[in-house]
Amino acid sequence: MANFDPAAATQAYLSILTPDQHAKAVAYTQGGHWLLLWSAVVSIISGILVLRSGILPRLRNWVEASRAKPIRAILLIVMVDALIESVIALPWDIYAHWWREKSYGLTSQAFGGWMGEWALTNVLSLLVTPLLILGLYVLIRRAKSTWWLWGSLMSAAVLVVVMVISPVVIEPLFNKYTPAPPGPVRDAVAEMARANGVPSDKIFIYDGSKQSNRYTANVSGLFGSARVAMSDVMFKKDADLAEVRGVVGHEMGHYAHHHVLWFSAAYVLIALVGFFAVDRLFPQVLKWTGAKGVEGISDPAGFPVFGIILTCLALASTPIRVTMIRLGESDADRFSLERVNEPDGLSKALAKTIEYRAASPGRLEEALFYDHPAVSRRIRTAMNWKAAHGANLPPEVARP
Ligand SMILES: [Zn+2]
Repeated sequence: MANFDPAAATQAYLSILTPDQHAKAVAYTQGGHWLLLWSAVVSIISGILVLRSGILPRLRNWVEASRAKPIRAILLIVMVDALIESVIALPWDIYAHWWREKSYGLTSQAFGGWMGEWALTNVLSLLVTPLLILGLYVLIRRAKSTWWLWGSLMSAAVLVVVMVISPVVIEPLFNKYTPAPPGPVRDAVAEMARANGVPSDKIFIYDGSKQSNRYTANVSGLFGSARVAMSDVMFKKDADLAEVRGVVGHEMGHYAHHHVLWFSAAYVLIALVGFFAVDRLFPQVLKWTGAKGVEGISDPAGFPVFGIILTCLALASTPIRVTMIRLGESDADRFSLERVNEPDGLSKALAKTIEYRAASPGRLEEALFYDHPAVSRRIRTAMNWKAAHGANLPPEVARP
């Protein structure tokens, strides 16, 4: 392809959006970086409010006086704390996750629908999280100085269970998942699945347009439940086959290279560091918050201190977390180009994600905040691939 210019081709894709649309995407994306900070602040403030109110120690005294089993006492205290903190944070959540999305035109979901899902998420979390936290307190009381080590192993086990059951039990509560309907799209996807060793009954379409207008697909589940799911938004915005192939090739990359498994392992390491930090910093942070009536790390009335320390660490480690995910995304793009060879299809689909992820951040902004590589660079990579390999050749010719 002697007269193909990758830089000009990249520019042509970026020009699909008007300068106004790019400016809006930049405002949305950079505002999103600030949301990370403000969300952490809201969560820390709600923890401090609960600690200073003394409500949890009063509750603890009350359940102890009623001679309830220690396990029930811990569960009750932790659930009350989770409930209070999520209610305190609710106005912020409404702003950050619904109102703001709505004002940028990124969701068409009505407030009632969003609120219903918020309630469902919180009920699920109230059922699962206190059990995990109960486990932590049992470990703190039994294993004392090494609880953080056992605690991260236990979190790993819980994480694996949640990921395995998520596509079967949790995700269907929020969306309807159906096998891709018959037609050229399903045929193309099934053909790719066969060529890449992904079982074709593992590819689903879900009604993602209910929550968000984002052009997106994902891989979820673990081991036998792992699958590729495409939002129906992909089929509404004049999907063409090259585009579907490019995107599904990317998702198959996540699937084939077991990214979910790798990220899970990384999260276990993060939990290990986090719990160790909680173990060391607990007394000092407890003092700073001005908490009343908390009797040390083994007292569940001090649980908001865990939240405060872990929130600070999560915020500080954002660049590590996003960089890890970003490397996985580059790997999935590479998989798509090598196996499916649809650089233009992939680029056309990527251009549609610019509206919620500004295309051309500086290198530092990308490193600190972007969990996907910048679209301008992803498209350039695809166009460089096209320049080097040609595109849209039959797979048996394109594949070495
Ligand atoms: Zn991806």
